[in-house]
Parts: sequence; C-alpha cells; structure tokens
Amino acid sequence: MKRITSRAVVCLFLSLMLILGTFLFIYRFFNNGNKWVSYPANRHLYTNGQINSGRILDTTGKVMARFNDGWKYLDDKASRLSTIHAVGDPGGQIGTGALTVFAGNLNGYNLFTGTGISSAANGRDLHLTIDADVSAVAYKALDGHVGLVGVYDYTTGKIICMVNSPAYDPNHAAESSKKDGAFINRFLSSKFTPGSIFKIVTTMAALEKMENVDDWSYKCTGSEEMADGYKITCTRKHGTVSLEEALNVSCNCAFGEISVELGSGILKGYADKSGLTSNYSINGIKSAKSTFDFSGGNKTDLAWSGIGQGKDLVNPCAMMVFCGAIASGGEAACPQIVDHFSFTNGASLTDYEVQYTDELIAPSTAKTVTEYMRTDVLKNYGQSNFPGLKICAKSGTAEVDKTKESNGWFTGFLDDVDHPLAFICMVEEGGYGAKSAGKVINTVLQEAVEKGY
Ligand SMILES: [Zn+2]
Repeated sequence: MKRITSRAVVCLFLSLMLILGTFLFIYRFFNNGNKWVSYPANRHLYTNGQINSGRILDTTGKVMARFNDGWKYLDDKASRLSTIHAVGDPGGQIGTGALTVFAGNLNGYNLFTGTGISSAANGRDLHLTIDADVSAVAYKALDGHVGLVGVYDYTTGKIICMVNSPAYDPNHAAESSKKDGAFINRFLSSKFTPGSIFKIVTTMAALEKMENVDDWSYKCTGSEEMADGYKITCTRKHGTVSLEEALNVSCNCAFGEISVELGSGILKGYADKSGLTSNYSINGIKSAKSTFDFSGGNKTDLAWSGIGQGKDLVNPCAMMVFCGAIASGGEAACPQIVDHFSFTNGASLTDYEVQYTDELIAPSTAKTVTEYMRTDVLKNYGQSNFPGLKICAKSGTAEVDKTKESNGWFTGFLDDVDHPLAFICMVEEGGYGAKSAGKVINTVLQEAVEKGY
C-alpha cells in the first residue's frame, strides 16, 4: 500500500511538471514565436544570412529597402546613407536597424499559420516614422562632419529624422564598412560630453531650488576662483547677469556658482528627473543612459558638472525628448520609430498608440525655461538665422580634447502647435554650437516645416 502511495505521488508530481511545462511553453510561444522563427539558422527565411522577405518604407510611403534577390536600397546616396541606421544592413551589424530588430515582423510570421502562407514573396511592409527626404537634407547639411541629427514630433512621438554620420553604405559595403563608427547609431546608442546644452537642466534646478531666484544676479569677471583654488573660466567678461541672462550668454562662471550653491544631491536629482539617466524603449530598441558624476571630490568638479563638462555624458535622444517635455509643459510623447506594419496589399496590422513620459519638468518651470530658451535665440543666436521659425534653443560647445576643435551642439524645440518638433544636433569638431549645429538645425527644420511636420 505504502509503495502504491509513493508511486502515485511521483506520478502526480510528473503530471504537474508536464502541465506546468506545457503552460510555460505556450506562454513563451505566444511571446517569442516571431523571434524563434527569425533565428538566423532558420534557412526557410534567410538566404545567405539575409532575411529574405518584406519591404521597409518611410512615412510618406517611399520604399527605402526591399528584398528582391538581396536587399535593395534607395538609389539616392544621401537618402540611403541618412536612413541606414533606421533601416539596417542585411548583415545585422547596425544593432538599431529594422532589418535586425523587426526581422520577425518583416517575414510575415503569424502565430497560427507560421511563415508558410506569407513568407518570401509575401513578406510584410514595415512603415517607419522616418522621412527619407528630411533625413537626406540633414545628412547633406552635416557636410561630411562626424555628427548626428535627431528631430521628432513631441505630441505623437514620431521620429522624423535620425541621422548619423559617418554612415554605412550597403551599395559600397566593403569600402564603407572600414569607416570608423559607420555602423554606430550615435543618436540612440551613444553618449557625449554635452557642454552648455546641459545648462537647461541646471536652470530647471535653479528655478525650483534657489532662494530668491527672481532677484538673483551674478557679476562675471571672466573667471571665478573656486574655494579649492581652481578656476572656472568664461570666453569673455559677461558683467552682471540674472539667471535668464546667464543662460542667454551661457556664462560658465554663473553656472559654476549656481551648481556649487545647489550642491551635488540637487543636481543629481534633476538630472534623473529630466529623464536623461533613464533609457527609452523605442519600439523595443533601447537608447543609452546618460551618466554623470556629481559626487566630485572638489567644488571645481561639481561646478564643471553643472556647466556640462567634467564627466557628464549625455545621450542625444534623451536630451531631445527632455526638450519635447519642456515644450509640452511637463510630459512629452515617448519616441517611436515604427508607424505600422501592413500586408503588401495595404491592410494595416498594427497601429502604435502614443505613450507619454513621466513628468520630466514641472509645468510652471517648463513655462519659464521656454521663455529663457526663446530669449537665447532672440538675444544671442539671432532670429534671422531661423527665418519663420518660433524656435527655442540652447547651444553647446563641448571641449573634449584640447588638441582638437570643440564639438558644436544645438538642441531645443519649436514653440508652435502647428509644427511641434523637438530637435538635437551635434557636429564633431564643429566649434561654436550655435553656428555649426544651429545652421544644420535651421536647414533641417525649414525642410520639415515645409513638408508639414
Ligand atoms: Zn561669464
């Protein structure tokens, strides 16, 4: 009897394990089926290591890549290279490329019919939010410089332009793969010394945490000696400035003083609040997190951290989204790159819903920062350099290597309900940001606004 009982227990245990295992398999099958199918060893879907069906289109319906005995890209070189980090390469070396990330969706996989019905000849259409024409204009505006341009609609989250240079050219694979960093999506996957564009975050902290901020002023003599004997320097004497004027002229000495007054805890708290230290999941593609070290052993390090130098490293995509949040009064739409999938006959499969970030900036602070970023343009960068655009911005000129020219930055947004665009641009060794990156941004925004974004 005892023996029978123990056998029954063993049988019951094995049956339970079988049931549990079956449920686990079904759960994982539902969730990961498309990824299993897309595994490169599945020869049914791959020819010489390339996914062998589907098309990738831009937001206007222009086919950016299609499979036809190998992947074929756009004939126009600037359009091809400016969209490659979104479209991807057949070899999968561009980690953010749709050909790699969405392979399971492109091959027409269906949970119940597998890929049998709609493989090879009948792959799916993947419609990205990218505009190939605006992207080409951005790529040309970078004019051969190493750099990046990002533009997105902060009300819908759609990324219109995600351009990185240098870029891999699939039509000249051998020669272009030798270019240093041609596969890297700098906008999404990298982080850089931000220079003065970080002063937007320090300004947000100052507005909320500095006592009597409306009456606050600082006299800049061109350099400020810190308590530990080191100096913070400006490019010239700025004289007496308010917080708004300090941002307008980008006074390092004033922002050094503010950073020390606020202290490391507050600066860290606002860097986190701004979303810079988090990553975004762009239809499953993760952006890089920005990193800071505000714990610096001395006051000079802390001052430079609040100025955007020192050990600060910022992800361009997160900075662009933060600017979108300022424009939206606190929360921005989360960035996305996939508009929808459809069958080649046009029937739509998936429409993505707009998702929003947390509150990255308090609404009243966003209003004040918007005013400050507008006077940056009116008083410093010059409205005539941005004809017809109600642009709010901050430039940066980041010193990375003393033997080289600084990196130029320009970030901000259009304060315009008809054209709700946020943007960021970095031109490596471009020098003064408002001139180098600012000029690129004007060119790109003129094209985007012209096209109705
Ligand atoms: Zn100054």
